Amino acid sequence: MAEILVLVDHADGAVRKPALELLTLARRIGEPSAVVLGAGEAAASIAATAGEYGAATVYVADGAEFTDQLVVPKVDALTQLAKEKGAAAVLVTSSGEGKEVAARVALRLGSGLITDAVELEAGENGPVATQSVFAASYQVKSTVTRGVPVITVKPNSAAPEASSAAGTVENVTVAFTGNAAKVVARTPRVSTGRPELTESAIVVSGGRGVGAAEGFAVVEKLADSLGAAVGASRAAVDAGWYPHSNQVGQTGKQVSPQLYVAAGISGAIQHRAGMQTSKTIVAVNKDPEAPIFDLVDYGVVGDLFEVLPQLTDEIGAR
Ligand SMILES: Cc1cc2nc3c(=O)[nH]c(=O)nc-3n(C[C@H](O)[C@H](O)[C@H](O)COP(=O)(O)OP(=O)(O)OC[C@H]3O[C@@H](n4cnc5c(N)ncnc54)[C@H](O)[C@@H]3O)c2cc1C
Repeated sequence: MAEILVLVDHADGAVRKPALELLTLARRIGEPSAVVLGAGEAAASIAATAGEYGAATVYVADGAEFTDQLVVPKVDALTQLAKEKGAAAVLVTSSGEGKEVAARVALRLGSGLITDAVELEAGENGPVATQSVFAASYQVKSTVTRGVPVITVKPNSAAPEASSAAGTVENVTVAFTGNAAKVVARTPRVSTGRPELTESAIVVSGGRGVGAAEGFAVVEKLADSLGAAVGASRAAVDAGWYPHSNQVGQTGKQVSPQLYVAAGISGAIQHRAGMQTSKTIVAVNKDPEAPIFDLVDYGVVGDLFEVLPQLTDEIGAR
């Protein structure tokens, strides 16, 4: 069966959810093999998890290069494995780093690259990837016609499904090419305790309607009651009410959660570009004519300062 290499994202010794989604999708197009790089002592438990989610083989490579340098060591490892194993496709999570790794691997392999896929299926001429383009106005299906397809997949594109496989660990020695940018210092981001915006299954976002930085407290309370990440429109970010790292949209982050709640957001095309592929969309806006209501599954016409606390209380009560 066609071997599909899946780069397994991990943090703090644990597999990140988008990697489990990739392993689930990889099973639709072939037999997944997980690639675990620079995990140190956690490699064994990460490999076991990959096996639970369908990885027949888990290639493990370690070395200070993976932590001391930016993307190049990962590119070295993936390119080497893709060639040695005759892989039928390489799958990587659509994060900033993931897309850079994927682009460089595709270049080295002389292959076509598809980014930000939201669906994968088997086709006659290799994997068929679906992308949602032009602010999610169109769905495009593509296949790579040259080389080993390298595909990045957006987080939350599939629900992770366990499917036990051998998960046989194979240690790999990577021939590093060098020439990588070196990490000279690290400053950990202060944790909010909330999930990562692009990976969270639920996102609650606030816009100009929130009125002030302090107004985001009602958005955060609702988010916390749902275990959600907090997003913001550009208007709210430009006003200095919320950090740019939380901006959703064309010039912010692209999210595709199971549930997206937009509070006090009008629904400008540039905002929609970052959230329109969300599975269920709920908006709270006091203007019944707000364009956001054109794309919602559920809309509440009302003042967010009245609606959100009631919703938070109700969720707490349940
Ligand atoms: C090149 C470019 C890139 C851009 N990139 C992005 C991007 O990445 N992300 C992004 O978001 N925008 C982006 N924008 C900006 C975008 O065009 C809009 O200006 C922005 O999204 C508007 O933000 P908003 O919906 O919060 O504000 P507004 O459009 O001002 O809407 C505020 C809404 O809140 C409602 N409201 C007010 N008070 C309340 C209340 N108490 N309760 C309930 N509802 C209330 C109002 O009815 C209104 O609908 C970009 C623009 C350009 C030109």
